[in-house]
Amino acid sequence: MTRLSEFEIIKRYFDTPVSTPFVALGIGDDCAVLTPTAGKQLLVSTDMVTEGRHFTLDALPEWIAQKALAVNLSDLAACGATPRAFFLSIGLPKALATDEWLAPFAQSLHSLANKYGCALAGGDTTRSEELTISITVLGESPAPLLRSGAKAGDMVWVSGTLGDAALGLALTKGEHYNLNLSDSQLAHARQRLHTPSPRVKLGIALRGLASSCVDVSDGLAGDLQHLIKASDVDATIDVDAIPMSPALRVAQDAGIDVMAYALSGGDDYELLFTAPASARQAVIDAAASVGVAVTPIGNVAECATVIPELQFCNDAGEPWLYNGKGYEHF
Ligand code: ADP
Ligand code: MG
Repeated sequence: MTRLSEFEIIKRYFDTPVSTPFVALGIGDDCAVLTPTAGKQLLVSTDMVTEGRHFTLDALPEWIAQKALAVNLSDLAACGATPRAFFLSIGLPKALATDEWLAPFAQSLHSLANKYGCALAGGDTTRSEELTISITVLGESPAPLLRSGAKAGDMVWVSGTLGDAALGLALTKGEHYNLNLSDSQLAHARQRLHTPSPRVKLGIALRGLASSCVDVSDGLAGDLQHLIKASDVDATIDVDAIPMSPALRVAQDAGIDVMAYALSGGDDYELLFTAPASARQAVIDAAASVGVAVTPIGNVAECATVIPELQFCNDAGEPWLYNGKGYEHF
């Protein structure tokens, strides 16, 4: 295995031709030169993934690349922004400065980026003891969707299904080894953990419809708390309405506390958003137009006290007490 130099790495794997008017000049000079679209606002987000904390080195390079970019694109999705460009800073252990590791890494990175028209416009490459990847994404929108717009009377919605990544993580750790999942259910849970799909098209389709939005990176409970605090409203979630995949239903039937996965598991990268009740059909149509399922799971109310409060109930409207781990009926 030949070790590549910093400049060989950049030239071979990152300096790919860019053809978007947004990037006037990409890799190669001291700065990238960008041309933002007139009348649009520029949205910028950075997320870092590190060895040990976000993945282990037995993860395939293509998974690491996909996840590192997907978590960033998910932030743009949450703001309803169209991805335009990204910057990649990578701290690479010596042993990974090889074609064997970098080729699948770069291939997966470029393939996800191309899917959303997001051009690699620059970055930094350095040697590091532990693999560290920091990506900065830039997107544009005429009217960014924020966490702060939820209003009393809005409905709370979530895309896709929740809890799958947490199940995938448990399976990766060897937990629930006797769970009777089909091959496709196993693949689903692993795929959701390692190669999440950012809901970019849904975020864009929700422009002008959703009143607020956040992506679910830390679990529904925590992320919804952020949203209601930013909006200064209360919210009630019907736990029986939370969308779960067939794999999670199998786990639930086996007695696993899947509600804890859905509410606090994290890493699902679905969109959690609010919209006026009058926009119900428009939300369903917008989601259908981009091929993503969305489910109404609760309601927004005026803040009853001084502190925005998140409550849970069941289908019958009875309160559920969520203790931060699982939930308890009382
Ligand atoms: P400088 O010495 O001016 O900081 P570098 O040698 O770090 O420049 O980088 C040279 C060029 O390669 C720059 O345009 C930079 O944006 C780009 N670059 C370096 N590392 C990466 C990377 N990991 N991904 C994308 N572009 C990169
Ligand atoms: Mg530099």
